[in-house]
Amino acid sequence: MNVPLLSLDLQHQVLEKELKEAFAQVLAHGKFILGPEMEMLEKEIASLCNTRYGIACANGSDALLLAMMAFDIGPGDEVITTPYSFFATVSCITRLGAKPVFADIQPCCLNVNPQEILKKISPKTKAIIPVHLYGQSADMNPYLAVAKEKGIRIVEDAAQSLGADYQGKPSAGIGDVGCISFYPSKNLGGLGDGGILVTNDEAVAEKLKKLRNHGAHPKYYHKFVGMNSRLDTIQAALLRVKLPHLSSYAEKRRTNAKFYIEQLTQAGIAEVTRHGMSSSRPLVLPGLCQSSHVYNQFVVRVRDFQTRENLRTYLTDKKIGTEIYYPVPLHLQDCFKFLGYQKGDFPESERAAETTLALPIYPELTEEHLKKVVQALAEFEWKK
Ligand SMILES: *Cc1c(COP(=O)(O)O)cnc(C)c1O
Repeated sequence: MNVPLLSLDLQHQVLEKELKEAFAQVLAHGKFILGPEMEMLEKEIASLCNTRYGIACANGSDALLLAMMAFDIGPGDEVITTPYSFFATVSCITRLGAKPVFADIQPCCLNVNPQEILKKISPKTKAIIPVHLYGQSADMNPYLAVAKEKGIRIVEDAAQSLGADYQGKPSAGIGDVGCISFYPSKNLGGLGDGGILVTNDEAVAEKLKKLRNHGAHPKYYHKFVGMNSRLDTIQAALLRVKLPHLSSYAEKRRTNAKFYIEQLTQAGIAEVTRHGMSSSRPLVLPGLCQSSHVYNQFVVRVRDFQTRENLRTYLTDKKIGTEIYYPVPLHLQDCFKFLGYQKGDFPESERAAETTLALPIYPELTEEHLKKVVQALAEFEWKK
């Protein structure tokens, strides 16, 4: 029995008829760009995030870039974010000529440490991009008031956290703008690329709508330069078929996580710790720093790099899929050498990059799948 890291077959099989109908409807009306299904999806996602506006775009990376453009971020500006995330969190800053300023992560949930963010605020800081990594919100309260007072924008990278909440408020709806991705592996995954921004600010929403359409308003009249980043009507229609299932997907992911946590703890090889390290167990399970988690990924941690590499090879041999999110922290990427950061600058991010591994957690996993993973982990020679 294979246990892939992710399989979308079953999820789409049960929705096949509805997906084909949605496609057929768009085919029939022919409004392929900025069509009615896109506008309906915008309203539905905005409502899910408890925001007034949703602005759909081509993908989550563009959502981040559009947010930076909406706040006129450019040369001379600084944007504070985490070095432990997907590449797009930082490329949106450098593509506009602004400078990413990194703040290290917390060892528990691997989200950016709010105290580190506070230390990095300078007169040049224009925005902060917290990433809600793996589906759990980053802690934002410690700097929300300071940011507001100083006019610093909060752009949430909620690419992995749609459906999660932070102290009772939906993820993506807390800062000035929230950026969401519909990449197929996200909790609400499309059949291709897709993204959306959500905000409560009417002026920002209006600007984003122009920016995603070449900055044009009205058509063929351009006061500023935007991009071509729209969500296809077909993609929006397909996403609307999956949207009603989002909370049940998250519930299944939580059930799977609970199974891993209970079984691996009982097997005596794992524990959940608040500091992301264990003195008595070889395997550390993801800590909960917030009350809500939608487990876009279930990322465990081992003691050192070699153990992680051995474990990954061993699980691959057993046909259990894993992935490393992310093997190289962003401050050490070749393309960001010009920023002048060095190994050792963000020790928690570097340690996470060396010692973490994502296990299969997708909603359609069966108990047999989960048991196979648990058994394989229990039988691994941890000492070697
Ligand atoms: C997926 C992801 C993105 C980018 O989304 P795309 O739709 O793939 O462009 C940005 N940030 C994070 C944290 C992500 O996981």
